[in-house]
Amino acid sequence: MRRSPKPLHLALFAASFLGAHALCVVVFQSSAMLVSYPFLILAPALALAGCGWRARVEQRKSRAPWVLLGVGMLLWTCGVALNAWEDLVQQTPQTVAWFSDFSFFIYGVPVLLAISFVSNEQQIALFVWMDAIQAVLTGYLAYIAIFSVAPFSGHALDPISVPTLVLTYNIENVILAAAATLRLLAQPRGHDRRFYGILCGYLWVYALVAGVYNYWAAISSIHVVLDVIVDVPFLLLGIACVIDPGPRNESDVAAAKRPLAVVIENGSPIFYTLALLALSILLIRDHYLVGAVGILTALIVYTIRTTSLQSRLIRTQQELRDATNRLEEMVLTDALTQAANRRCFDQTLTLEWSRAARTQLPLGLLLIDIDHFKKLNDRYGHPAGDRCLVAVANALQAALPRSGDLLARYGGEEFAAILPATDENGARIVAEHMLADVRAIRIPNETSPGAFVTISVGIAVFRSTGTGAAQQIVDAADQALYRAKERGRNRIESITQNDFLGMGSA
Ligand code: GH3
Ligand code: MG
Ligand code: MG
Repeated sequence: MRRSPKPLHLALFAASFLGAHALCVVVFQSSAMLVSYPFLILAPALALAGCGWRARVEQRKSRAPWVLLGVGMLLWTCGVALNAWEDLVQQTPQTVAWFSDFSFFIYGVPVLLAISFVSNEQQIALFVWMDAIQAVLTGYLAYIAIFSVAPFSGHALDPISVPTLVLTYNIENVILAAAATLRLLAQPRGHDRRFYGILCGYLWVYALVAGVYNYWAAISSIHVVLDVIVDVPFLLLGIACVIDPGPRNESDVAAAKRPLAVVIENGSPIFYTLALLALSILLIRDHYLVGAVGILTALIVYTIRTTSLQSRLIRTQQELRDATNRLEEMVLTDALTQAANRRCFDQTLTLEWSRAARTQLPLGLLLIDIDHFKKLNDRYGHPAGDRCLVAVANALQAALPRSGDLLARYGGEEFAAILPATDENGARIVAEHMLADVRAIRIPNETSPGAFVTISVGIAVFRSTGTGAAQQIVDAADQALYRAKERGRNRIESITQNDFLGMGSA
């Protein structure tokens, strides 16, 4: 990282620069114009150097706006250099616009691009190209607007008068400063906001200085003394560029954007299209074809931008919906066995409990527990235990024929199956399938029931469940499971609603 000069040194340098400029103009009054031009050329050149330096030290993603502002400074420097050449060598009359004025005018093109520049994450290659086309076209239209003739057309140039051009400059300067202010308001706190702060400050000072200078130039011939104030915005910009902004804080960039900021940031690329449209409308009376092409281009660019953004929005919404669905699925799924998880079980049971009350159909619940699973873990290790859980879950799922049935991992090595509209017989058939299917996968686990993994199942079937909470049926199935374990495992036990309620009241 290059070291930034100290602010005090920069301030002293700027003061000396202005002092030297004023002194030269006063001392060499007879050739004031001659001594003033080197300062007028040097000031924007220093701002250009400042922008270049900042662009080099910035991270790649924050570089482009500085480069664009630098191009603006280059055009301005070229403008003064041309002005010097026209004044001192060509001696063109001061009353009409000439090439230097064209340069001053199109200095606004890269500056406007910098203002409407969108952050890297939102950048779309097609839009960058469209902005580039608009920029070139705006430059072309500006040339025609100033000289009233198409470039290289062979006609004599017919430049507009300086008073008209001064008015155009003032309007351009205020629009640029206002657009930069809007952009600054839009930019969330963080490192990149600094660029828009500097740009905004520079553009307002520039608009003020240019306004005063142009007004004075129009009514006085001793405007050369005023040349000194023209240096001010450029020196300020140059200084702001090289002052150390401090370390970049990445958390700032992620700060949430306010709704107004989002509107302005998304609207700012339109600034350019509007500028092109305004310029084309101005030209259409005298240069029908050029004006029409400008208007058409602005409309096409606007249409492409809107359509493209619209389709991106639709695509993003779809992706968001898919992601939400996937997330919801994940929230309700057990990561190991891919069966429904406890949360899903609880939700489904509550739902089916009230549905059963409405439909007056029986509701079956199976609680399934792997027998002597701890021994399997101890003997073959936890990874083998996990594989067993997955295999058992698959076997249990295969034993559930109806789409409305739900298998869930209830916890540890226990599973639960919710069987809507299923009576005792049906529930027992399902449980028997489960027992047989688990035995059939033949996972070794030498214990009292045999050489392979077995399960015990507790069944509870409840009817007209209008009263009481869904927990009742879980407690009943748990009691049945406990009984199956007690009676030797690898078996099915069931408990009826009456038995359960009788036990509760006993
Ligand atoms: P019982 O026949 O009475 O059900 O005996 P058991 O050994 O199956 O039951 P117990 O409750 O004593 O042990 C359950 C074991 O399940 C204890 C725990 O380490 C194991 N376990 C729970 N969740 C997981 C898991 O996700 N993966 C593995 N590998 N083991 C688990
Ligand atoms: Mg258990
Ligand atoms: Mg067990």
